[in-house]
Amino acid sequence: MRYSAWNIFKQGLTGNKGWTRAWRDATPKADYDIVIVGGGGHGLATAYYLAKEFGLTNVAVVEKGWLGSGNIGRNTTIIRSNYLLEGNQPFYELSLKLWEGLEQDFNYNAMVSQRGILNLIHSDPQRDAFVRRGNAMQLSGADAEILDRDRLKKMCPFLDFENARFPVQGAIWQPRGGTVRHDAVAWGYARGADARGVDIIQNCEVTGFVMDGGACKGVETTRGTIRAEKVAVCVAGSSGRVMDMAGMRLPIESHVLQAFVSEGLKPVIPGVITFGAGHFYVSQSDKGGLVFGGDIDGYNSYAQRGNLPVVEDVCEGGMAIMPMIGRARLLRMWGGLMDMSMDGSPFIDKTHISGLYFNGGWCYGGFKATPASGFCYAHLLATDRPHETAAQYRLDRFRRGVPIDEKGQGAQPNLH
Ligand SMILES: Cc1cc2nc3c(=O)[nH]c(=O)nc-3n(C[C@H](O)[C@H](O)[C@H](O)COP(=O)(O)OP(=O)(O)OC[C@H]3O[C@@H](n4cnc5c(N)ncnc54)[C@H](O)[C@@H]3O)c2cc1C
Repeated sequence: MRYSAWNIFKQGLTGNKGWTRAWRDATPKADYDIVIVGGGGHGLATAYYLAKEFGLTNVAVVEKGWLGSGNIGRNTTIIRSNYLLEGNQPFYELSLKLWEGLEQDFNYNAMVSQRGILNLIHSDPQRDAFVRRGNAMQLSGADAEILDRDRLKKMCPFLDFENARFPVQGAIWQPRGGTVRHDAVAWGYARGADARGVDIIQNCEVTGFVMDGGACKGVETTRGTIRAEKVAVCVAGSSGRVMDMAGMRLPIESHVLQAFVSEGLKPVIPGVITFGAGHFYVSQSDKGGLVFGGDIDGYNSYAQRGNLPVVEDVCEGGMAIMPMIGRARLLRMWGGLMDMSMDGSPFIDKTHISGLYFNGGWCYGGFKATPASGFCYAHLLATDRPHETAAQYRLDRFRRGVPIDEKGQGAQPNLH
């Protein structure tokens, strides 16, 4: 069923009885060409682009819970392409371009809103670094502007410009950044993939890999064995646990990241604001709630909930840069499971096991990457060659000594 203004009108007149299910409740078949493990944003986007771009539809997405139960339904919805390094910038710019046409492409309202993103500047060296980053962005076709203090003050008069420790001197501004309704992205990709023949199988946990002569030939699941020519793992925060079943150790740690939503307020935040020096970021949802977050919880965990000291720390970060936030009541918060890689950059690669592919290490930045991650993973699975924008996301980059360390801070997950 195609969604359109005409269809809304027609269904409205006929009691809304004609809407069909967005995707089928598929029963697993005995074998597929490709099985994707993990029905998060990246797994569903991969299935969608495999079907749409490469005509591969004998594909299943196997999800242990329900679609949207992982980070795709837990993140703070920010999209941007304000990266510096050659290994990252073209990839994230591809993603932003895909976001720009996404709703028309998969015929689903994902509320893509390019309201802009600001990264605050507090010192001269930070301004130099952001100017350099802005130049790198422009070289790959992205948009970036340096705002001085006066221009920023007009946009965000509520910031504490005279903060004793972090006086605000300006910002780097990417107007094409913004927010997207996160769970609608999962639903849109699922619907688009299903319509092209992909089986989406929920409540089906992968419990092992079918190995044959050293090659991966399928997965063991709670709903039986499913054989496949290729198995594409895409489980974000569960990467370590799932790849351990294939005997692989990854340069990834799992940590909790929390998100917070305040009561609804009148429009006050013009776009997304990030205060990197204190690690706090905020946007405002269309319902008026301030959506914000900060640091990871700082210890390894597979729990999807966080602890109170980090709640205090994040709120202190908010208070430091915009004291008016202290008057807003906190409505709800939750945690998600982050696959923090040691250089802060992801992996989209074949493993050393024939037939087994891996996508992960997205840290706190994988939502914005969803379209490009799906596109490039589909490219790798279909052609066995990496897409040019994801060519540096190799699993052996630490062994080769070429990490993609965007901030140059070394192997510390909490600093990326
Ligand atoms: C609080 C928070 C805020 C964030 N904010 C942002 C942001 O503003 N911008 C941004 O770009 N990124 C953000 N992120 C990061 C982003 O959400 C993730 O990097 C991204 O969603 C990960 O990819 P995914 O959607 O495929 O993951 P998920 O949705 O987690 O998908 C993985 C799926 O694998 C399934 N799975 C796990 N094990 C198995 C198994 N054995 N068998 C079958 N299925 C399995 C899980 O159930 C899950 O559904 C945030 C994350 C969190 C938690």
